[in-house]
Amino acid sequence: MTTKHVKLFIPGPVEVSPETFAAMSQPMMGHRGTGFQDLYAAIQPKIQTLLNTKNPVFLSTSSAWGVMEAAVRNLTGKKVLNCCCGAFSDKWLDVSKRCGKEAEALKVEWGQPILPEQIDAKLKTGQFDALTLIHNETSTGLMNPLADIAAVMKKYPDVMFIVDAVSSMTGVKIETDALGIDVLLAGVQKAWALPPGLAVFAVSDKALKKAATIPGRGYYFDFLEFKANHDKNMTPSTPSIAHIYGLKFKLDQIEKEGLDHRYARHLKMATLVRDWVKTRGFEMFPKAGYESVTLSCVKNNKNIDVAKLQKALKDKYRVLIDGGYGQIKGKSFRIGHMGDETPATITELLGWLDDCLKTL
Ligand SMILES: *Cc1c(COP(=O)(O)O)cnc(C)c1O
Repeated sequence: MTTKHVKLFIPGPVEVSPETFAAMSQPMMGHRGTGFQDLYAAIQPKIQTLLNTKNPVFLSTSSAWGVMEAAVRNLTGKKVLNCCCGAFSDKWLDVSKRCGKEAEALKVEWGQPILPEQIDAKLKTGQFDALTLIHNETSTGLMNPLADIAAVMKKYPDVMFIVDAVSSMTGVKIETDALGIDVLLAGVQKAWALPPGLAVFAVSDKALKKAATIPGRGYYFDFLEFKANHDKNMTPSTPSIAHIYGLKFKLDQIEKEGLDHRYARHLKMATLVRDWVKTRGFEMFPKAGYESVTLSCVKNNKNIDVAKLQKALKDKYRVLIDGGYGQIKGKSFRIGHMGDETPATITELLGWLDDCLKTL
């Protein structure tokens, strides 16, 4: 019997280091005092550098879905185009409708990317004033061609460009301002390697002006409330202060590692897993050329018992991989390689996978 905890190699939440937990475990302070304001202000330039933006970066005490819903509520006046290519992006369409917005899907098959010409064809109709895109569709392990899509979006400056980077932020470089992204959002339990419960989002000036014209924004997720408080280095309501200590720690750690190193490390881990997949006779689930850098979704073309593989890994090595999401559960499995993981920990995991595959 071992008491060792089960280490997460699922694509979020991911393993959180003891150092991160230690950084979060600091004395509480009032969120309207100078201590908090100093912490908030210290985070801003660091996170703006990371996201390549001059826009304010707001901190929401919620999971990513809070901000995903908020973006639609704050920025859709006419109709939102939801780009659907997997479980999370499909759900965003449903969420838009539940918010009472006119919404339409640009839908492709799971494993296929959203292509710029498909977006162009839809936006040309002039029906839409907002678009949602998931950069890294975690359910299928697919990374959409963000730069190419952004180039098309430049033709439609009145359409709000809302990008979910939940499972790519900090693992892949995102040029927020150069790409003209109006809202870039993420939860922190994926490549940030923090515990779940906080979301970060950068909002453009254009989006703030648009929000001012949209009724029914509510209170908790009103972008203008975030902006008004941001100007005083505060959040609208009491935030998860422990998370914000943790965010500061992570930003310092990322700065120390260096962004180029960090992105190269993530690419190296992805390459290791892709090579393993190929040499073991498996295939990647997403269309070639669109594989995610932060996680791998592997097609179960060898028809192995995925649940049994998961159990063997958990029992013998105390690690958890994912058994496939939604309609591709059992037909695929996913390995997260993001956050604090390294080529060494991923190589070790792949060895354990080999060992457990032999026992199936
Ligand atoms: C995990 C994930 C979400 C949902 O995040 P929550 O923290 O559960 O709200 C949304 N989008 C993507 C791409 C994700 O990977």
